Amino acid sequence: MAQKEYREYLNSPGWDKKREAALKRAGGRCQLCNYPNDLEVHHRTYDRVKRERVGDLFVLCEKCHKRFHGKLPTLKEHNLTKMLLGIVVEAGKAFDVPTENAVEIVFEMLKREFGRGKGNV
Ligand SMILES: [Zn+2]
Ligand SMILES: [Zn+2]
Repeated sequence: MAQKEYREYLNSPGWDKKREAALKRAGGRCQLCNYPNDLEVHHRTYDRVKRERVGDLFVLCEKCHKRFHGKLPTLKEHNLTKMLLGIVVEAGKAFDVPTENAVEIVFEMLKREFGRGKGNV
């Protein structure tokens, strides 16, 4: 199905009905994280667009949906970013500099620590 046709379908009353039914089946919550707002209905397959079966549709909140389609960092990446930020903030405190400057310090420390062996390879 062409992109344009698919977009038109998503604006049609036929899709509205299926969307509503899917939301109802899901109890008005994200089927992944249980969040009750910003719900979107995801197509698990595009094989039967316009004649979707019950199992073809999945209710996701906006965040889970974006994450699924790779538009948001995964939970792992998100946690890693949080961890790195934690390190930078701690370094800032330790060296008594603002967080922006601590990034540079952490980077230099990592380079010193892990870049050492390089010349011997
Ligand atoms: Zn989707
Ligand atoms: Zn969710």
